Amino acid sequence: MVNNYLQFKDQLASFGCEVKTDEPMKNHTSFKIGGTADLFVTVSHSEQLRSVVTFTRQHGIPLFVLGNGSNLLVSDNGIRGVVLRLSGEFCHIGFNSDGSVHCGAGAQLSKLCAFALEHSLTGLEFAWGIPGSCGGAAFMDAGAYGGEMKDVVVSCEHIDLSTGECGRFEGEALDFAYRHSVYSGGGYVITALNLRLEKGDKQEIKAKMDELMGRRKDKQPLEFPSAGSVFKRPAGYFAGGLIEQCGLKGAQVGGAQVSPKHAGFIVNVGGATCGDVLELIAEIQRVVREETGVELECEVRKTGE
Ligand SMILES: Cc1cc2nc3c(=O)[nH]c(=O)nc-3n(C[C@H](O)[C@H](O)[C@H](O)COP(=O)(O)OP(=O)(O)OC[C@H]3O[C@@H](n4cnc5c(N)ncnc54)[C@H](O)[C@@H]3O)c2cc1C
Repeated sequence: MVNNYLQFKDQLASFGCEVKTDEPMKNHTSFKIGGTADLFVTVSHSEQLRSVVTFTRQHGIPLFVLGNGSNLLVSDNGIRGVVLRLSGEFCHIGFNSDGSVHCGAGAQLSKLCAFALEHSLTGLEFAWGIPGSCGGAAFMDAGAYGGEMKDVVVSCEHIDLSTGECGRFEGEALDFAYRHSVYSGGGYVITALNLRLEKGDKQEIKAKMDELMGRRKDKQPLEFPSAGSVFKRPAGYFAGGLIEQCGLKGAQVGGAQVSPKHAGFIVNVGGATCGDVLELIAEIQRVVREETGVELECEVRKTGE
């Protein structure tokens, strides 16, 4: 596809960041699905990030912030403009002077959990096994097994894409709710999280993490590419239970299949396209609506052209 954004490659690269063109997004999503991003830009420190944000604003280039791509369904036509990935200093994890944890938004959530374990800090065990970045986890208020990011995140630092200004939200202003945060509407790059964790017993923390990981391995089809639970939990139900009850386990469109192991997951059993997944999602929503009256809402974020 011919587009105008490729012309900006050299100017973006002049800020010192890594810039790839026509980068296949299937290489950056846990679903292994997605067409190409015009400009795939990796920034490793704040100055580069500010330059990229200012430049894209000035030139009207759309900017999409990628975390670990574990909750994303990217269009087969790909993403126009810039896909931004945080690296380098944005992956650093350490302590603030008040003892709270400061974590770059590009760091893997698993690294943050390992850091907490290493320092005998409890509160993040629930997140062990969620394959996102810390920024993506804050954006989504990721959660599992009775815990969620809201329980541990004190504040988030960001750049506002509409002004280019740095800022932070804390406490109530984060507007955390089930799979929602103040950031869910877009318009910000989350750059860092500050978390309050409690001192705990290392063996107990480790045992809890192992137990929860064991439960994931038992229940989830981790052997196939997916984006985790496709639908949000409808009030009073479990999406997977409703889908199974409607006889949809194993239903397939192209390479996209309702996992026979966990009906809440759609798995890519080989060569699935975004179109396949969207068709299967629509079919699941239709059948569940007709048979149970429950409207299933997508948790997975669709993006791209
Ligand atoms: C096998 C499997 C198991 C899973 N289990 C769970 C689970 O138990 N609980 C759960 O909640 N989720 C689960 N997920 C889903 C997913 O891991 C989480 O939603 C995770 O928080 C997404 O983070 P990410 O970095 O991959 O975000 P991405 O998928 O890259 O992005 C998700 C959204 O966040 C935005 N975003 C990401 N980083 C930033 C940033 N720095 N600044 C601004 N916006 C940003 C993106 O633009 C996008 O809109 C699972 C997924 C898989 C594949």
